[in-house]
Amino acid sequence: MILDWSGLESLLRDAGHSLYGGEAISQLEHALQSAECAERDGAPAALITAALLHDVGHLVAGQGDDDLADGIDDRHEQTGVAALRELFGDDVLAPIALHVTAKRYLCGVEPGYLADLSEASRLSLALQGGVMAEPEAERFGRNPHAVAAIALRRWDDEAKVVGKTTPGLDHYLTIARRAAHTRAGALQ
Ligand code: FE
Repeated sequence: MILDWSGLESLLRDAGHSLYGGEAISQLEHALQSAECAERDGAPAALITAALLHDVGHLVAGQGDDDLADGIDDRHEQTGVAALRELFGDDVLAPIALHVTAKRYLCGVEPGYLADLSEASRLSLALQGGVMAEPEAERFGRNPHAVAAIALRRWDDEAKVVGKTTPGLDHYLTIARRAAHTRAGALQ
């Protein structure tokens, strides 16, 4: 599925009704909380947009509530990037593509990171390839998009607060439109 703006907007609005796999909040709440964390930390529009849309692949793939428990990895980071390709450039898409790898990286290099993950996140880690070992971690650290992907990962981890109030979807879609089809640094 390749999304246009209206398809993206309705997918996100419908996501208010689907649970964020294994957590106690909806996919839309998780998306808005992620974007709000990015905005709070002064991230550029592209990275706020990546935070908003990092789990769109779950929605495109129609992730079931029991997928994790059933041992299914829907490879949502790849599905999401493929669906968003017409709307955004690498400054938005690369951090989304790498946010699962960034979790594996942080588990490998940061003491205590793994222990602080939510139960659902720990469960999916095993399906996603497990803790990253040294040679791969060193390679990942050299990726030009690693810093953005790691920042996104931390907002993702933080964005699981039940009942938190955030700005609405319209606010973040306005930011997303600013980030559309900009290459890193070119139009910002
Ligand atoms: Fe997420």
